[in-house]
Amino acid sequence: MFLKRLEVIGFKSFAERIGIDFVPGVTAVVGPNGSGKSNVTDAIRWVLGEQSAKSLRGAKMEDVIFAGSDSRKPLNFAEVTLVLDNTDEQLAFSYTEVSVTRRVYRSGDSEYLLNNQQCRLKDITDLFMDSGLGKEAFSIISQGRVDEILNSRPDDRRAIFEEAAGVLKYKIRKKKAEHK
Ligand code: ATP
Ligand code: MG
Repeated sequence: MFLKRLEVIGFKSFAERIGIDFVPGVTAVVGPNGSGKSNVTDAIRWVLGEQSAKSLRGAKMEDVIFAGSDSRKPLNFAEVTLVLDNTDEQLAFSYTEVSVTRRVYRSGDSEYLLNNQQCRLKDITDLFMDSGLGKEAFSIISQGRVDEILNSRPDDRRAIFEEAAGVLKYKIRKKKAEHK
């Protein structure tokens, strides 16, 4: 599984629709301070279901919508699509390409789509759980997170290893079964 493409419109500093094609190997995003490099990774975490505005460096979820600039009016919605290559079928989804879209409006309405079909946030969370790419996964390590992992409590650190080992979904299922 690998990241093929990211499409962003109206998310944070990206007022225009932008598309980034990733090729196998290393991709580096470079640019001056404040040019939107971290907003690219925020977009990836957001489309994978991040619910915490704070961890997206905002106060409320509406803050992810382009707020306007000197030359442009604010936009009414933000939309991010992440396209993944799934030819190795690492994701339990019978398509060689998986696209995940999240859209949010200023009114608060929001939607998620998997391969252009409307779905629930839970469908996305379930699909990516234990894939190493979920919103809680370590595939995105933000500034400060390295220290956090090193200084975390043993239980919390264990959860990181469990996600890495792919056993988290069984633990969650077990917990659910016990509560029934
Ligand atoms: P650094 O090198 O300092 O880490 P960076 O390239 O990672 O910088 P970002 O943090 O991604 O920069 O981008 C910050 C910019 O995004 C700021 O200029 C901020 O005004 C802009 N920004 C964030 N949210 C919005 C929004 N909702 N609407 C418009 N602009 C936004
Ligand atoms: Mg940054």
